[in-house]
Amino acid sequence: MTWPTGGAVSSTSQERSREAGRVREADPVSELAALIRSAGSVVALTGAGISVPSGIPDFRSPGTGIWENVDPMEVAHIDAFRSDPARFWSFYGRRFASLRDKRPNGAHAALVELERRDLLDAVITQNIDQLHRIAGTEELIEVHGTIATSSCLDCGARFELDDVRQRLDADAEGVPRCECGEPLKPDVVLFGEMLPEDALQRAQRLTIDADLLLCVGSSLEVYPVAQLPSIALQTGATLAIVTQGPTPYDGDAAVKLDGDVEAELQALVAAL
Ligand code: ZN
Repeated sequence: MTWPTGGAVSSTSQERSREAGRVREADPVSELAALIRSAGSVVALTGAGISVPSGIPDFRSPGTGIWENVDPMEVAHIDAFRSDPARFWSFYGRRFASLRDKRPNGAHAALVELERRDLLDAVITQNIDQLHRIAGTEELIEVHGTIATSSCLDCGARFELDDVRQRLDADAEGVPRCECGEPLKPDVVLFGEMLPEDALQRAQRLTIDADLLLCVGSSLEVYPVAQLPSIALQTGATLAIVTQGPTPYDGDAAVKLDGDVEAELQALVAAL
């Protein structure tokens, strides 16, 4: 039987899948468990998808929560913060509020369990929601920063989240302010801002040293996280993906789990 379409791209992709996967027909959760057991160093890379079961929508899913009817590139941009902090905080204050009562889910807990069993070296995350830290992950690199603190861009003073919330509530304009009077900026990477260099370098170093990069809940399309699977492949690591929907690296992954992220990771822990 021959396929009328497909051509070189399709067959290349199939060959790559066979080469990388080998046991495609086997239960993919068991296959991933075997890869984790045999790897010397495993590093997880997580994105918005791991927090969705905690009730935190991915801003790229339209019509959800606080991101409804706003352009993230506009309201969460460093220029918006600098030009109109009151307007910036009218949005970001709601974001703080929406994250206030959110709790880690079974997917976060599964990564904590892997770390506890010495099967996972570190978690690199794009998420700013603190849920990995609240869940108990110890080696955590937050490449987009965190809402845990906010800083004064003028004098450099840094304030804890509870303090920032009190300052936000107390200010007539709803802008949390430093002792020096300047508006505080959450220590998250806003659109238009550079990524924290030290976190980025740590993430790259961990990826270079990893035998297995376990990508969870990320479409792997946003820099810098999109770059890490490529680094992993170049340095001979194996790629595993636990994400609903396609990613640019699906053809390179030894295992791709496409189901609910919580169920997949809990099944993985049970298989180890
Ligand atoms: Zn200050």
